[in-house]
This record gives sequence, C-alpha cells and structure tokens, in this order.
Amino acid sequence: MTRRPSNSPPRPSDEPAQDNAGQSRKPPLAAGVALVASLPGVGPKRSAALAERGIETLRDLIFHLPRRYEDWRNLTDFPDVQAGVTVTLSGELGKIFERPMRHARWRRWAQALLHGPRGARIRVVWFNLPAYMRGRMPSQQRVLAHGKVTRGADGALELVQPDLHPLSEGTPPPLQPIYRLPAGVGQRLFARLVTQALAEAPVEDAIPAAIRTGLSNAEALRQVHRPQDDADPAALERGESPAHQALAFDELFAFELALCLERERAAQRAGIALDNGAITARWLKELPFALTASQSRAIAEIGADLGKPVQMNRMLMGDVGSGKTLIAFWAALRAVENGYQAVMMAPTELLAEQHHRSFQQLCGRTGVVAGLLTGKTAGGARTSLLRTLESGAMPLVFGTHALIQERVKIRRLGVGVIDEQHRFGVFDRARLKALGAEANLLMMTATPIPRSLALSLFANLEISFLDELPPGRLPIATELASEDELGRVDDIVRAELERGGQAYYVVPRIEAADDSEEDDNDEDDREEERTVAATAERLKRGPLEKFKIAAMHGRMPASDKERVMREFRDGVTSVLVSTTVVEVGIDVAAASIIVIIAAERYGLAQLHQLRGRVGRGSAASRCILVASRGADAAAMERLSVMTRFSAGADIAREDLRLRGPGDLLGARQSGALPLKFIHLIRDPRLIERARTMAEEWLRSDPNLKAADSQPARRAIARMLAHGFSLGDIG
Ligand code: ADP
Ligand code: MG
Repeated sequence: MTRRPSNSPPRPSDEPAQDNAGQSRKPPLAAGVALVASLPGVGPKRSAALAERGIETLRDLIFHLPRRYEDWRNLTDFPDVQAGVTVTLSGELGKIFERPMRHARWRRWAQALLHGPRGARIRVVWFNLPAYMRGRMPSQQRVLAHGKVTRGADGALELVQPDLHPLSEGTPPPLQPIYRLPAGVGQRLFARLVTQALAEAPVEDAIPAAIRTGLSNAEALRQVHRPQDDADPAALERGESPAHQALAFDELFAFELALCLERERAAQRAGIALDNGAITARWLKELPFALTASQSRAIAEIGADLGKPVQMNRMLMGDVGSGKTLIAFWAALRAVENGYQAVMMAPTELLAEQHHRSFQQLCGRTGVVAGLLTGKTAGGARTSLLRTLESGAMPLVFGTHALIQERVKIRRLGVGVIDEQHRFGVFDRARLKALGAEANLLMMTATPIPRSLALSLFANLEISFLDELPPGRLPIATELASEDELGRVDDIVRAELERGGQAYYVVPRIEAADDSEEDDNDEDDREEERTVAATAERLKRGPLEKFKIAAMHGRMPASDKERVMREFRDGVTSVLVSTTVVEVGIDVAAASIIVIIAAERYGLAQLHQLRGRVGRGSAASRCILVASRGADAAAMERLSVMTRFSAGADIAREDLRLRGPGDLLGARQSGALPLKFIHLIRDPRLIERARTMAEEWLRSDPNLKAADSQPARRAIARMLAHGFSLGDIG
C-alpha cells in the first residue's frame, strides 16, 4: 500500500494482496519517523532486541502497554510478613554478600538483611543477580523492597529477588508498570524510554476534538504507563481502566470510519446489473416448500442490489438451518438467466459436494448445469471444467479453495457466493472477488452475533438477516451429561436408533497421541477413549452392536469421507462417529440425535453449529453434551447456556455476555488488521456508539477533508498500511 496524497481520503487498494499470510505485516517505515534507536540508552543491541518484538518507532514504544502492575502503595509492617505474600517493605539494607552459585559459577547469588523498625529484620536473597546490579546494590541505604516472601531452607522467612528502590531517589511510582520485554532491556529503562517518547512524539486522537467526550489518547497513555495513585490495578491489568477503554474507543472510531467510507466507495464501484428473472421466477413457483418470510425479504434485497449497475457486497446472516443455501442458489440462477456465470465457494469438500448435489436436486429442473471443483477434481475432468469455465460454457461451479487457485479463470462472472465466510481469510475473499472485476458478491455466515452488533462490525457491507427457521422445526432438546454417564447416553441413542433415527457422535480427537502437548493433563488416560476409533469401537462392541457404525475424520482421504458421508445420508449407516469435520453445513434430515464428547472444549458458536447438524427435518431431535470430569466452572456455565437456549440470537447474546464483544471482533479480524485494543471492548454498546459517531462525522465531512479530520485520516491510513483493502474484509 502506497501513501496517499493527503487531499483524498485514504483509498484501499483494489488489488488482492500477494501473499496470504493472513496476519499483519509491518509496512516499511516512512522517512522521518522517530526511532527507538534515537533515544539515549538504546544502542544497536537493545534496539535490535526491541525490534524483534515489533518495537521500532517511538510510536511502537508508546503503544507497548504494561502487562501488569506492581502495587507499591501499601507498606507491610515487618511483623505482618507471611510466606506466600507479595509485600513492600521499607527498611535499611545491610551489607551485601555476593558469591558465585555452587553449580553454576557464572551465576551470582547475593544475600543481605533488611532492617526494619524495632530490630525487626528479614533476609533478602537474589539468585542469578542481573549483571548490571553486580557490585552496585544499594547496600547500607534506606530502600523500599518489593517482592515475594517465601520460607527458606532453614525455615526462616526470606524476601526473594525483590525490586529495590533507594529512598534517596525519592518516592517510587505507586503502581509500577511491568512490561513484556526482551532480555537485556530492564523495566526501569523501558519505563524511562516510554516517558521520553511520550514527551517527544505527541500522540493524536482519531476522534475529532469537537466530538470527543472521553480522555485524549495522550492522557490515556500517560495513565496506562504511569497510573495515578488512586488507580485500580486490577482494572488496569484487565484492560478495563477508563484509560484502556478510551484507547480502544478511539481505535474503534477510526475502524468504523474506515468501514463506512469503504461502504460508500463500494456503492460507487461498477458492477454487473442482473435483472432478467426468467428462470428464477418459475423455479421459485415450483419449489417443494414455501419460502419463509425472511427468505423472501432476503431475495428481494439481493434482487434490488443485483438489479443496479453497482457491485453488490452483501452478507447474509442466518442461524444454522435457516435456509441460506436456497438464497445462494437463487442468486446464482439470477446470474445465469442473465447470461453470466456464478461460483459458490465452501470451506470443506464435504460441503461443496453437498451444495453441488442439492443444487441438482432442487434446481435440476431449470436445466442449469453445474460443475464441481475441489482439490480432488483431477485429470481430464479438471482440465475440461477449467476450459468450460474460461470459455463461459459452464454457467455455474461449486467448489472449495480450489476455485481460487491460479489457473482458474471465469469468463463472465456475475455472482460469487462464499458460504461460511468466517472460515475464509481476507485474502481468500479477495481472490474470489478477483475472478470477476465487476462481479457481485454474496457472503453467508451463521456466526451468532446480535443484529445491532453485526451492523457495526460489518458496517462496510449491506446485510440481510434470516431470522426465522423454516416452519415445523422443533427445538432441539439439549441436556448435559458427565463422562461417567456414557452408558446412559448410549442407551438414549439406542432408543433413538430403534425409532429409525440416526446419530452423530462428535469426539475431540482422531488419535490418542495427537496434539497431546496441548492437553497435558493428569487425566490423559481418558484421552484415549475420546478418539474416533476408540469411540466407534466401544459402540460396536456394546450398546449399539445391532447398528451400522461409521467413522470419519479430517485426515481421511477425501474419497473415503465422501463415501462415509454418502452412506450416512442414505441411511446405510445409522451412526457417524467423527471429529468436528461435520461442523459446518452438513445437512442430513434424518439425523435426530447428536452426542458431543468433551463438549467443554468448544465455544458457544461452535457448539451451536455442531448442534445444528440435527433438527433439520421435522422429527424432534436431541443433543447431549458430555462434559469431561475436569471441566471447569466457566466451561460448565457455557454448556448450561446450550441447555437453556436454542435460537442463535440467544446464544449470541449469552456468548457476548460471557466473552465480551472484543473477542468477536478479534475473531472477525483474525489478526488481519493492526487493531491493538479492540479486544478490550467489553460493552457492545460502545461499538454501536463508535459507528454512530463515525456516521455522523462523515455526514459533516464526507471525504475527511476538514483539518479536524486529518488525525482520523492518518489513523485509517495506518490501519490500511498493511497491504490489503478493507473491502476484502468480510
Ligand atoms: P443453512 O442456513 O444452515 O445453510 P440450509 O440452507 O442447509 O441451512 O437449509 C437447511 C434445510 O432446510 C435444508 O434441507 C433446506 O432444503 C431446508 N429449507 C430451506 N428453506 C426451507 C423452507 N422455506 N421450508 C422448508 N425447508 C426449507
Ligand atoms: Mg449452510
């Protein structure tokens, strides 16, 4: 991304970025930017160490916030000192004894006595004394010592590795910031550098002074780096202090501004107009069911977008099972009936195949032919598909990431659909867009986010909501079970199968050994029972021996997965034991019970998606969440949300309550934008407020030309300096 002339708004580039690292890359430094290396005390070694952590400019330094704070405000009286407690003591440091450690002679061990009032004293010890302190300890001086008390080998209390502050240097800051720093850069030094940088490099606010009500960034940063006496260290450490919130809000404002600008800009981009409805009109009439009201509304909204000669950028948000696929088919057919082509991309082969098949079932009578392009489309089939796509002869193609590989060319792309868009990175979406310069884009997601929040998070897009399920769906009865009750769970499943239903068992692991380094817990012997193979084996041997059981996981060859899935869909097998590969989109109407083993490991959104695999037909369905023995209280609360609520909107609200919207934002960005503080936002109303403020400001200064808007313009430019366009963010 190059720098923009300053009298036009920062314009996102329209070219897709070249690599798909999916993470922020640091842009090259502009000339004239003040570097940390310019500060006294920062030589080549330290500046290299800091650069390694991404701290190169004074701005980087200032925005490197403390990780925690040491509270030096309350002095402990010597008689109250206890083992296991962190204390601040005031006293006189006695003579220091330093000597090499016995088994590591290059390390220094030091010891002294700290003398308090009335003859009280405590031993102070340092292991591995930092080199710069050697021979320079404030011995025989009055100091404040802050550190943890433990009981030494001889049973006496000792203060271990304390930080010392000689009182001759005045009183220390009451709350001392502790930063995450590379070796060789001490806390004191860093704090001093920050103070200097704050003085030398003024930090501006994206929010124009005329409308700002909270702290300025400069003041907020001072409070974060040097908290006031009465600050609440716990709130500071959680990022919930007013100062942290002000920083996050300022950033959020710039972000919303950028999204709103992008939306304006997109509304002016030329796009193919599609208004002939010859095929879709008839197809809708002949559907085997009536559209839900929100499906009709979504079709009307999309139809209006497509009818205009501007590019559509629309998100379709609808709960699991709300019938999004049908809308995608409608949009694809609309492209085809206007003489254009359409693509629909899904995150897994399984899902792409399912879309392809259900298109044939639901739209076969239209006579529209559809291709399928996945990683396993090979040889002659692939060559001829690529040829017909490029020539324009193939009107519609379903597929996976294979669609956005280099060799794919589409002659006349009218509509591109991305299903489960949250599973794709920003660069994937950009590549799909790049298949057609004026193509219209429809993104679909079942991410449970409250509507008002969605409007702010995706302010760069138009949004259609499917907020109802097709009629006749019964809520999925959801219950919790413990791992020790598996026998009872299996009995419930057996009864369900005997009634003619089908069952999913979702387990966390393919094999016992995989990723065990992550879950290095004491009950790992249980892990073996939580694998695909062991669960399938257990069911076959015992409770479900009368039934056909299949197993599936992500590492199986695609052809095996497809066979297993086909047999399950056709009822050849009754039970499917799998990992979470069944999570997205799989639609088997006869499946009526799902058992999720080790359910505490999943977030609410994922559990909701998994549970959505059942209850897709008209039969009453069940979901049993099996919690492992070691599940903690937070996890159990999450699971209980699932038993109390079934609608995505309710799950979303609870998810928000438990996690805070920052996490959702974080997930949306997946590291793609250099937003530093957004994850600190706890109150969803702040996000909406930032959006309202941004919209209002743009009404008064639509192109950010006013002098007051320049800091915001620079903030946006910094966000965009990482080589991709906001238009690519889905
Ligand atoms: P999702 O929104 O989760 O992608 P799908 O598009 O897979 O949901 O739809 C779920 C099921 O509901 C499919 O079997 C689909 O055929 C069916 N369906 C979609 N719309 C309707 C409707 N209006 N009436 C009845 N069934 C519908
Ligand atoms: Mg779907």
